[in-house]
Amino acid sequence: MIRTIIALLALAGLAAAPAEAQIYPARPITVIVPFAAGGPTDIIARIVGEHMSKTLGQQLVVENVTGAGGTTGITRGAAAKNDGYTIMMGHMGTHGAAPALYPALKYDPTKDFESIGMAAGTPILIVARKNFPPKDLKEFVTYAKAQNDKLNQAHAGIGSVSHTTCTMLNVQLGIKPTQVAYSGTGPALNDMIGGQVDFMCDQIVNLTEQVKAGTIKAYAVAMAERSPALPDVPTTKEAGLPDFQVTAWNALFAPKDTPKDIVAKLADALDKALDDPTTKKRLLDLGGVVPDKQGRTPAALTALVKAEVARWTPILKVAGAVAP
Ligand code: ASP
Repeated sequence: MIRTIIALLALAGLAAAPAEAQIYPARPITVIVPFAAGGPTDIIARIVGEHMSKTLGQQLVVENVTGAGGTTGITRGAAAKNDGYTIMMGHMGTHGAAPALYPALKYDPTKDFESIGMAAGTPILIVARKNFPPKDLKEFVTYAKAQNDKLNQAHAGIGSVSHTTCTMLNVQLGIKPTQVAYSGTGPALNDMIGGQVDFMCDQIVNLTEQVKAGTIKAYAVAMAERSPALPDVPTTKEAGLPDFQVTAWNALFAPKDTPKDIVAKLADALDKALDDPTTKKRLLDLGGVVPDKQGRTPAALTALVKAEVARWTPILKVAGAVAP
C-alpha cells in the first residue's frame, strides 16, 4: 500500500514538472543580438554562447535583429514564445536607457523579461579614425570644441550605448557633432577604419584589436583604472576629463514567464561559461570585465536593470536627449 502511494506520488511529481523542461533543450536556441554582426554585443554573445552550447548540448544560434538602437531586436525577443528557445543579449541601452528615449517602447525592461545573467562589463573608450588630428585627449577636447558640428560621431542608434555615452561626453564638452547612426558599432568601426567617421564612444571589446593594430586611435578609457587589455591607453581621469566615467554591460534575458527551471539551466550554463578559463580569457583579452559569481546571478541582473532605468532617465534629460 505504502509502496503504491509512493509510486503514485512519484508519478504525480513527474507529471507536474513541465515536460518541456525535462528534456530542455531538445533543439538549438536562438540568441537575438539586437545589433549588427561583428560588434560588441555580437562578440560577447558568440563567445559565451560557444561554451553554453557545450554545457547545454545544443547550439546557441545568434540572430542579428537590428534597428532603433537595439529596441527592435529586444521587442522581438520580448514577444517570442517563452519556451527557452529564444533568448536575447540585451545591454545598458536596451535595458537601461531605452525607456527614457522611446516613449512608445513596446517592452518594459523591469517587467517583461526573466533575467538569465550578466555576461560581461564593457568599459567605454573614446576612439577616433587614425588620422584624426588630435594626438591625445586634451588636444581632442580643444579640437572638438573648435570644430564642433563639423565633426562626425558614429553611434549604433538612439538609446544605444555608443549614443548615450557619447551624448554624455558631448554635453560635457558643449559640442554638437553630426551624428551618424549605424545598425551596430561593428559597421561603424569599419567606417572609422576607412576614415569616413571621426570619433565614437564604444564598448572596449569591439575596439581592443584595432587599437592594438593601430587602425584607429584611442584617447582614453572612461574608468578610474586602466584596462589590462590596453595598458597604454590612459584613463579619462589621467588624461584630463575625470567626470567622463562610464562602463556598459551586456546580459542575457529570456521572455517573461519562461519556466523557472529553464531559466536556471541557462543561468547555470552562463555561469559555467564564465568560469571556463578559455572563455574567460577571450573576454578579458578584449577588455571585457567578467562578473564575479554574485554579479552574474539572475537576481543581480534584475536589480541592475531597475537601477539602470532609474539612473539613465535623469542623465538623458539633463543631456537634452529627452523632452523635459
Ligand atoms: N556598441 C553598440 C552600442 O552602441 C552595440 C553593438 O553594436 O553591439 O550599443
